[in-house]
Amino acid sequence: MVAGAVPGTAARLVLATHNAHKVRELRAILDGRVPGLEPDAIVGAGQLGATEPVEDGLTFAANALIKARALAAFSGLPAVADDSGLCVDVLGGAPGIFSARWAGTHGDDAANLALLLGQLADVAPEHRGARFTCAAALVTPDGFEHVEVGHLVGRLAIAPRGTNGFGYDPVLVPDGDLRTCAELTPREKNAISHRGQAFRALAPAIVAVLSGRTPDLA
Ligand code: IMP
Repeated sequence: MVAGAVPGTAARLVLATHNAHKVRELRAILDGRVPGLEPDAIVGAGQLGATEPVEDGLTFAANALIKARALAAFSGLPAVADDSGLCVDVLGGAPGIFSARWAGTHGDDAANLALLLGQLADVAPEHRGARFTCAAALVTPDGFEHVEVGHLVGRLAIAPRGTNGFGYDPVLVPDGDLRTCAELTPREKNAISHRGQAFRALAPAIVAVLSGRTPDLA
């Protein structure tokens, strides 16, 4: 028996985020895939009053696991967490796990973007390859752990364009498109995003855990 899948009771899953958009995104990905799983049974950590652990891992996967482990231990439920960022080829993968605080203040998107564009000011278009990366982790209270990683590969524009999205969206142009991520509709972005890919790849393991099965990850 896997934790969170008690026969006769509804399965529940908790997502390590205070962001309602991410909760909705995971609900949409799992919609109809787990018999008996009501959309409301997927809850955000904020709804449970969980505090956020220190993210001191050195990779996206390590940080996602830190968050999922802490939340599974706190809630007694299967927990999903993600960690993501922008990786720039010519910067050796930076800002990477430091994406949210590249300019010094956590979550200052405008300053982070301005600093990055300044650092790359004299880098030619053909050397401006970059990707968004997301690691999504599933951890159960009894110790099952699994991580999936997704990428959104593209190149960096010279100047920001578009008003949708957040973070570095105004400068990443996905391969095969001429628009930045901030010029895509939310639906277009979700269809190709690193986060969507990681969550969709993790879905079979979530489905198995919530159905009381040991995930077959072969
Ligand atoms: P988090 O993992 O969602 O906290 O994201 C970490 C940071 O990476 C954000 O603050 C953004 O700077 C950047 N980032 C991650 N995903 C995206 C994205 O889809 N668009 C733009 N920026 C992103």
